[in-house]
Amino acid sequence: MSAAIITTVRHNIGDDFVREGILYLLNNAGLDCAVEVIHKHSPVTVVRGLEFVRNLHVSHVLEPLTRAIGLSNRIDDAHVLIQSGAPIYWCHEGGPHCSDNEWFDPLIRQRFLPNRRDRPFLNIAGGSCQRYHSDGSELELCSACMSYLREFFDACDLTLLRDELARRMLNLAGRDARVLPCTSIFARDQLKMRSEPGEYIVLNFMENGGHYTFGQEIDAGSWRRLFVELAGIVAKMGRVVIACHTPHEEALARELVPSLDRFLIPNEHTEFMKFYSRAKWGVLNRVHGAFMMASFGRPAVVVGSDSRARMIENLNLDAYFVGDISSAALEGIAESARSRCNGYLEEIEEIRMSARLAYIDELKTALQL
Ligand SMILES: [Zn+2]
Repeated sequence: MSAAIITTVRHNIGDDFVREGILYLLNNAGLDCAVEVIHKHSPVTVVRGLEFVRNLHVSHVLEPLTRAIGLSNRIDDAHVLIQSGAPIYWCHEGGPHCSDNEWFDPLIRQRFLPNRRDRPFLNIAGGSCQRYHSDGSELELCSACMSYLREFFDACDLTLLRDELARRMLNLAGRDARVLPCTSIFARDQLKMRSEPGEYIVLNFMENGGHYTFGQEIDAGSWRRLFVELAGIVAKMGRVVIACHTPHEEALARELVPSLDRFLIPNEHTEFMKFYSRAKWGVLNRVHGAFMMASFGRPAVVVGSDSRARMIENLNLDAYFVGDISSAALEGIAESARSRCNGYLEEIEEIRMSARLAYIDELKTALQL
């Protein structure tokens, strides 16, 4: 038996957290098999021996050729195909649109579906990526994304979503799926890690508060100034370490708050997990940093720029839109995490327990285990 997972490889540790959680759940559902990964931002990595091709333009040219020649690849050989947690529904006036994504056509339409052989295709922990306050209605004006959502859903034996907005968008397309907390909360189980005594408060800074601004009123300079102010407030509460998921974030943290400690080990997601297991509480722009901390029982709130940030609400923690934040709100934001330290471990363990049962139940049914 083997499973192929459409994910990213050495690209974003958040994606690694999500995938580790899925592996744990598959294992616990009774699927014991070898797992192979496909880097979705370069679909030609589906072909054995071409994992090193990381450029999408090169992939665009090479991938159809490898298909025509019939080179050995991970999708043909897989018994189960899995889309591993990521934004899957996005639709913005003037673009980008999820119907234009780089992987669905080459991997699913061209490779998997014509050679399906009754093999299951699972879409696990899919989410939205809209403007922060979106209600999903952008989709109603876009027939391409609307029909893509239906096509993707109908191709899957199981769709599980990780945020309510994703579900609203799917509902607008006339389909429905269950929302469960992102699988990243089970990565620690897959790697057998436990919470360690809390040593520091974690802050994390991203320019504009997140990956995308989508034309919203976000003032980069203002968020920089507010973050410096927030760091000053939090530093009075205890030792602070800035989590930097990329060298760019590390450079920004060095520039903005040079006196504070920084943590970065590029692309080593297990090192980040160990780091988050020793946190006390935090305020982060990185959603999956906050998810990882929360999974260890350490409350973290998210300041974000798009609807991904609101996934944290599934863990009973708060999210804030970066464009809404004022200096007067900073203390309250820090307090919304700090005040949850007592009792959050029990809260998250309850959430993890019921989510674990729900995932395993859904996976067993879909895979007929
Ligand atoms: Zn669209």
